[in-house]
Amino acid sequence: MRIAGSIPLSARQPGQATTIVQVGPVAFGGPRVVLIGGPCAVEGRDQVIRAARAVREAGGSMLRGGAWKPRTSPYDFQGLGAEGLQHLVEARDATGLPFVTEVLDPRDVELVATHADMLQIGSRSVQNFPLLREAGQSGKPVMLKRGMMTTVGEWLHAAEHVLAAGGRHVVFCERGIRTFEPTLRNTLDVGSVAVLREMTHFPVIVDPSHAAGESRFVAALARAAVAAGADGLLIEMHPDPAAALSDAVQSLDPAQFAELAISCRAVARAVGRDL
Ligand code: PEP
Ligand code: MN
Repeated sequence: MRIAGSIPLSARQPGQATTIVQVGPVAFGGPRVVLIGGPCAVEGRDQVIRAARAVREAGGSMLRGGAWKPRTSPYDFQGLGAEGLQHLVEARDATGLPFVTEVLDPRDVELVATHADMLQIGSRSVQNFPLLREAGQSGKPVMLKRGMMTTVGEWLHAAEHVLAAGGRHVVFCERGIRTFEPTLRNTLDVGSVAVLREMTHFPVIVDPSHAAGESRFVAALARAAVAAGADGLLIEMHPDPAAALSDAVQSLDPAQFAELAISCRAVARAVGRDL
């Protein structure tokens, strides 16, 4: 709580309302919990359009998909790059869903910002300060994921870099941190949602997919996130998870995604919101 003085642009002042982050027709921070779905990586035109249709059919309001992928191994699929971005544009045209996509390299910010509705800064990039500055200067809303080793204070300061560079809209995304507990891929810090809602006036969403690491645990974490006050959910969903080129094990299929939407909607209503 002592850090509030060093984050003037992101700290919530006493009595200050949540800042609504508008991404096309989608409002983060309002009464409605925003459901974002789509594949980990954009693998082709057909794949991403099928995913986008499944998102829309389940009542989701935004598409995700990585065109540039930060992979642990340089020999794994690195994404389609600019071609993948074009597939996302086509999926938006086909469904009307805005999309968020990760930008890894400061040199790509201009291109990604020209096409994407929202820029994702990934966990591995949360303290890439030149990238944060470029993203801020682009004027696009930024989804800032928490690093797997980042404290809430460091994460808030990372957002402050985006804002100090001229960015006006940040959405925080909790995606699990590394702890001593090895059973799930990461440990979802649900407490950070409650803490951030107090500390910042910007919306906070949760990505239960990268926390869970396995599809069968995703919905439980998603419901916990909504119950804790998350303003949105970022869910990995693939038309054919077994064939996914990245994060196959944690990806839901369209039917599981639709089921998740139904159960999270019930939780949202129980806490006075909707989804
Ligand atoms: C992703 O969203 O696919 C991703 C790479 O997430 P993270 O940066 O949280 O690992
Ligand atoms: Mn992923």
